[in-house]
Amino acid sequence: MNNQLSKVKRVVIAGGGTAGWMTAAAMGKLIGKTIDITLIESDEIGTVGVGEATIPTLHIFHRLLGIKPAELMAATNATFKLGISFENWRQVDHKYMHSFGYLGKDCWAGGFQHFWLKGLQNGISSEEIGDYCAEHLAARENKFAILANQEFNHAYHLDAGLYAKFLRKIAEQHGVTRKEGKIEKVNVDPDSGFITSLNMADKTVVEGDLFIDCSGFKGLLIEEALHTGFEDWSHWLPCDRAVAVQTENVQPAIPYTRSIARSAGWQWRIPLQSRTGNGHVFCSRYMSDEEGKQLLLDNVEGKVLTDPRVIKFRTGTRRKHWNKNCVAIGLSSGFIEPLESTSIHLIQRGIIRLLQNFPKEGIRQPDIDHFNKLTEFETAGIRDFIILHYHVTERRDSDFWNYCRTMPIPESLQHRIDLFKQTGKVFKELDELFGESSWLQVMLGQGLQAEQYHSIVDMMDDRELENFLEGIRKSVRARVSALPMHNDFINHHCKSNVV
Ligand SMILES: Cc1cc2nc3c(=O)[nH]c(=O)nc-3n(C[C@H](O)[C@H](O)[C@H](O)COP(=O)(O)OP(=O)(O)OC[C@H]3O[C@@H](n4cnc5c(N)ncnc54)[C@H](O)[C@@H]3O)c2cc1C
Repeated sequence: MNNQLSKVKRVVIAGGGTAGWMTAAAMGKLIGKTIDITLIESDEIGTVGVGEATIPTLHIFHRLLGIKPAELMAATNATFKLGISFENWRQVDHKYMHSFGYLGKDCWAGGFQHFWLKGLQNGISSEEIGDYCAEHLAARENKFAILANQEFNHAYHLDAGLYAKFLRKIAEQHGVTRKEGKIEKVNVDPDSGFITSLNMADKTVVEGDLFIDCSGFKGLLIEEALHTGFEDWSHWLPCDRAVAVQTENVQPAIPYTRSIARSAGWQWRIPLQSRTGNGHVFCSRYMSDEEGKQLLLDNVEGKVLTDPRVIKFRTGTRRKHWNKNCVAIGLSSGFIEPLESTSIHLIQRGIIRLLQNFPKEGIRQPDIDHFNKLTEFETAGIRDFIILHYHVTERRDSDFWNYCRTMPIPESLQHRIDLFKQTGKVFKELDELFGESSWLQVMLGQGLQAEQYHSIVDMMDDRELENFLEGIRKSVRARVSALPMHNDFINHHCKSNVV
């Protein structure tokens, strides 16, 4: 019988999508010599098959695994990503970039935006705050390079299927056992409520001490067996459908994701070396699946390579991410929606947090509570950032946008909006993912305006302020002018070896 005091020697990972293989590779590499790890996946069920845009934190995970960037690029058909271009979000025909870069230079008392805001009032600043950020400008000019002396904060667009294969190789090299087949039943101990084993369709039984649920949206273990509960966020994030297709490339790959708002949601374009990933995320209250599909097909470029596939989802979070001896990682733990490509980041955070609190000597409630509290905090911060994009808009052209613009929002987000509007300040709390530059780019891009700037700026006279702003702008321009085109850099340095 499993109970809290049993040592954890056998880990079973249920699911072999991005979450399952990321977990298996990290556990195998970092603690694989001390435990047995088995991953179960079903070819018949398959994976969600999307999730191709990442954010820069992925480098941390790759460094832990010893993955070299060029090797990853070659194996996953990847391109570089410097940010996301948000088109039609504030108004139709308006666009802005949320880049991964740092805006300008801060001073101890106030962020760069305060200097920029005063400069704007006096006609000194460039209207585009992104002119003070190298990643922003490089993205707009389709440029990129990895330079020894000056790193551009970047992430990847990658092929999700190839990425899982790439990680599988690493996991198996580190002793992870893969079992193919369908899990038919999850056995739970009636006294402790712990999961004891999984019955497979081939009649074998897989026993374990700790189970990682990477089974996707349904949460086969965490929800279907343990009935953990789900906190629904669809009143704040109403999109609940996506349709995805792949198309042939028709132009050189750009170093950013495109997010193009539509009448009841938004469309993504993710450039890979070999093809383009496209999708349309929308809300079924305002658009049927057929309309959603057609709208996507009407707005892709290049020959369509796959049948459009509709994916249903619900935004929200599992009430506990770790319950009894089961930890949910990936879509089984909840889903915010893919607007800022945060799901793979949350997978990686879940894995690292689990490894930091790994219950080798037995599962203890304080470990579980600690894990859940940190996960909850982190997820809520990301949720607020995504809601910001939908809520702060000037669009009035459809019922969907009217709903988003007028819906009640979490108090935590309202506070950030009020603070920025009234004082020009933004902040990042503790371990939150999105920093000041991210909040600023999206708040300004969506049309928020600050009523004042910090008084520290008045310590500079107009001439000093102009020199300060111009100095940053010139150095950003000089850095970006020296870069090659993104596509040329890939062709010369990290061409894919996948046919
Ligand atoms: C429309 C959309 C777009 C997205 N875009 C992004 C993005 O750009 N960036 C990003 O970071 N994330 C994105 N995501 C999220 C990302 O796709 C997921 O976080 C990621 O793919 C991980 O999925 P998963 O491994 O949890 O689930 P899945 O890929 O669904 O894998 C589930 C696994 O469990 C197995 N399984 C299920 N049931 C059983 C069973 N009974 N027996 C045996 N095996 C079973 C399946 O075979 C599969 O191997 C997106 C998600 C959606 C829906």
